[in-house]
Amino acid sequence: MLIVVGAGAAGMAAAITAARRGIEVLLMEQNNRPGKKILVSGNGRCNIANRRPAPARFHSTRPELVKKTLQGYDAKRILDFLRSVGIETEEEEEGKLFPMGRQAASVVKLLTRECQRLGVRIVTGCQVTGIRQDQDEFVVESSEGSHRCRQLLLTTGSPAAPQLGGSNAGMLFAQSLGHRLFPPRPALVALESDASWPRQAAGVKLPARVGLLASGSLVTEREGDLLFTDYGVSGLAVLDLSREASLRLAEWESCELSVDLTPKWSKERLSKLLTERIDPERDLSLELWLEGVLHRKLVPIILEIAGIRTATEKDLNRKRIGRLVYTIKHLKLPIQKTRDFRYAEVATGGIDLAEIDPERMESRKLPGLYFAGEILDVDGDRGGFNFHWAWTTGMRAGESVRS
Ligand SMILES: Cc1cc2nc3c(=O)[nH]c(=O)nc-3n(C[C@H](O)[C@H](O)[C@H](O)COP(=O)(O)OP(=O)(O)OC[C@H]3O[C@@H](n4cnc5c(N)ncnc54)[C@H](O)[C@@H]3O)c2cc1C
Repeated sequence: MLIVVGAGAAGMAAAITAARRGIEVLLMEQNNRPGKKILVSGNGRCNIANRRPAPARFHSTRPELVKKTLQGYDAKRILDFLRSVGIETEEEEEGKLFPMGRQAASVVKLLTRECQRLGVRIVTGCQVTGIRQDQDEFVVESSEGSHRCRQLLLTTGSPAAPQLGGSNAGMLFAQSLGHRLFPPRPALVALESDASWPRQAAGVKLPARVGLLASGSLVTEREGDLLFTDYGVSGLAVLDLSREASLRLAEWESCELSVDLTPKWSKERLSKLLTERIDPERDLSLELWLEGVLHRKLVPIILEIAGIRTATEKDLNRKRIGRLVYTIKHLKLPIQKTRDFRYAEVATGGIDLAEIDPERMESRKLPGLYFAGEILDVDGDRGGFNFHWAWTTGMRAGESVRS
């Protein structure tokens, strides 16, 4: 018998794959239903995979092992699995794949139905509280009693989104069994700042280029939506660089963002535009003059940071235009921390891949112990890559367990 702990994407993919090979599977889940993270994914639409799962879209301390694990598990293989369960998909921009009905709930229903059809015993409301070895067996202690098995698969995910069952419990069980754990940190998450001005601009969303500076050096840059909030910043550009910020902040590096509020305008073009807009006849107040270019809520912030107290547009000169352009294109925001796990889509860190066979997902330390999904030290970019990892490793584990 195989015991699978955690009925998320990885756990269900593994249970289905193993059960199709005739293996008896017990799937233990602490929530009152399986697949809670799937249910909310992609805003309820479920970005289920990605057409181009290039290794560079997955992040880990062991990129070579990620590459090996992904080998042979391209989008077609994942889509074949999903289709076999009854889920058809459609592609959107950037290779993102969605279920045709755009209903995450239907994905969970179809996966659960396939588990049931194959005789997988799903026990919900069952929290695993401890795992130990007893000779050649694993003893799994849970709120519903204790179970023994020779093959155990941990698919308990990460501590991201604890309100949906996110937890580091499985990581700690693995650690207690001798596996190395890289501490999980929030990723795909918004960032908090002590600066007061984002609060003034709360609710403003705009396309921007956002650079992350750690200890003064540029680490990475992303372009996309930026949202100012009363705690700091969010939006896709911020989520995309948050894992780097999370890791740097954990190392106590000082982090700040450098925001370009007009990414489509070069410095020269913007400078020319602003200069040509000066109309001494019209002589608008500087605030109103700048509202022709920037969001109203950003105007006083930019003027304050640029240190321009000129009253009207006719008082602008080359130097002041230069300061305005610099501030608009290099707006600095200190970052103190990421938002906590409740607001994170995934976690960086997890169980070290170096101690796991990348083809079988089996522990190299304890034969019979398997891992799949986000419990491992891998996090993917936004765009369906995290589910791609969960399906891939779940299927690999399900194919490897011994019958
Ligand atoms: C809001 C949100 C939106 C997301 N959207 C997307 C998206 O559109 N596309 C994408 O690719 N990824 C998305 N993700 C990420 C994706 O959901 C995860 O990477 C993926 O679900 C990981 O699958 P998993 O099976 O490894 O873990 P999980 O889905 O987290 O499953 C682990 C399961 O284990 C259970 N468990 C944990 N500890 C115990 C215990 N001690 N005993 C019993 N059960 C336990 C948990 O309750 C949980 O059900 C999103 C995440 C969030 C939070």
